Amino acid sequence: MLLKGEMMDAPLMISGILKHADNCHGDQEIVSRLPEDLSTHRYGYSDAHKRTRQLANALTRKLGIKESDRVSTIAWNTHRHFELYYGVSGIGAVIHTVNPRLDPAQIIWILNHAQSRAVFFDKTFAPLIDGIAKHCKTVKHWVLMADSSHLKDVQTKGIAYEDLIDDHKPDYDWPEFDEYAAAGLCYTSGTTGDPKGVLYSHRSTLLHAMACSAADVIGVGARGVMLPVVPMFHVNAWGIPYASPMGGAKLVMPGPRLDGAGLHEMIEEEKVNYVAGVPTVWLGLLQYLRENDKRIDSVERVLIGGSALPEALLRAFEDNYGVTMQQGWGMTEMSPLGTVNVPLAKHEDLSKDEMVRLKLKQGRLVYGVEMRIVDDEGTELPWDGKSSGHVHVRGPWIASGYFRGAGAEAFTDDGWMKTGDVAYMDSDGYMTITDRSKDVIKTGGEWISSIDLENEAMGHPDVAMAAVIGKYHPKWQERPLLIVQLQAGAEPNADSILEYLRGKVPKLWVPDGVEFIDEMPIGATGKILKTKLRDIYRDYQFPGTEGMEP
Ligand code: AMP
Repeated sequence: MLLKGEMMDAPLMISGILKHADNCHGDQEIVSRLPEDLSTHRYGYSDAHKRTRQLANALTRKLGIKESDRVSTIAWNTHRHFELYYGVSGIGAVIHTVNPRLDPAQIIWILNHAQSRAVFFDKTFAPLIDGIAKHCKTVKHWVLMADSSHLKDVQTKGIAYEDLIDDHKPDYDWPEFDEYAAAGLCYTSGTTGDPKGVLYSHRSTLLHAMACSAADVIGVGARGVMLPVVPMFHVNAWGIPYASPMGGAKLVMPGPRLDGAGLHEMIEEEKVNYVAGVPTVWLGLLQYLRENDKRIDSVERVLIGGSALPEALLRAFEDNYGVTMQQGWGMTEMSPLGTVNVPLAKHEDLSKDEMVRLKLKQGRLVYGVEMRIVDDEGTELPWDGKSSGHVHVRGPWIASGYFRGAGAEAFTDDGWMKTGDVAYMDSDGYMTITDRSKDVIKTGGEWISSIDLENEAMGHPDVAMAAVIGKYHPKWQERPLLIVQLQAGAEPNADSILEYLRGKVPKLWVPDGVEFIDEMPIGATGKILKTKLRDIYRDYQFPGTEGMEP
């Protein structure tokens, strides 16, 4: 029999983070750009805690929300969304964040599947709500996240958030319950098939937030000024709304102003030193900075993930704006963080080009996440810097299944989750993603990495965005087709782009065709929609292959 440790059994509760922030960082600010009128709202963690307790009373007494009920949000990053994160989970219910960029039909499907009891939404989404409300049979309350003066602009009968909480007192004692209880729900983007719900627990959320707080992960403390551009409606804004109050960082919430000018304004006004978001956002900010000759001198670090960090973007920010770009990798099913790229002491003497190559890797594992790379037969591959295979993960903040039993095929019999990514590891533990399993281009016997090709193509001065898809080829099975959105004012010139790629990538990788597209299709989470591109170029044939026999 093992000797048992003599330590307290204190459950990991999400409400505990806010209690801590109130006690130890009470006047640290949350600053928000409000969606209803773009005014700035500013208060401290103590005020946030007070209003969140009022909200807890309103949820239980006025709306009748019970344990485990799903309460949905369709909202930007603001202090109200922050209060909902804590208030809903704190009473034992489940905060269900919905991505407003999805199709209305998909949003209806998700709200019905989640059996949502109440939906809290920003004024921006009033037309969306008016269109979907009658199809959402389980929703009993529609709450506009503003004061009642804005209710006139919504047709759906509902209540205003500010009235709802004003009617209630802040005396509320957060209950303690099983840390394995569900706390949050987020559906994956579902590029194929129905979306699948990932159900986080208090324990998983807390452990993930603590891991995010480590120095080489997000590591933001009480002197940090953090601007999460990454939305609270997708993958918990990478855990930042939990890790920031845990460490006492100031939170700067951009609301709907995610354009270059809006971000620049908030960065300057609030002296932001840490920003997090997907590459498409940084492309927008970069363009704004260049065109308006502006700077972002307060920013020290940028955490960038969600899709691969393009080399051109890395160089542009690090060389011209003095910021450190850190790439991270993860997914909805992983809460989301799995790896972050921070160079080691032994990398200090690397040349600029070697350092860039290192930083284009997705990074090293965050403690708590285990990983293995396997081939098509399931045999584990060595971490030798070249053996590419399917990425499997496991750990206390990795999904063990999907909500209401979908997608069992994503999990192995021996307890790992199949991420659907293809990657190799090097001996220092840096992961390099080469593709999504379904995007790999198999040409002859070889695998071509669409991510590497895209990254190189983005280095051409005329290329604003690049995507590579595999197309049927009678001799090679599949060959890469490069699809390019040009920089404003640039003229299509396929030869110059192909010439640029020769010598930068292996000969076999040079695409067999280049197509130009006016606007790259971008999905609900800011990533290029390859499914859409496959539709658009369904009948494409490589030049010279017409009529060729397989
Ligand atoms: P989501 O669940 O919507 O956050 O999407 C997760 C997927 O995004 C991952 O499985 C990867 O395919 C992709 N992804 C996330 N971060 C990166 C990154 N740094 N580089 C390449 N792909 C990424």
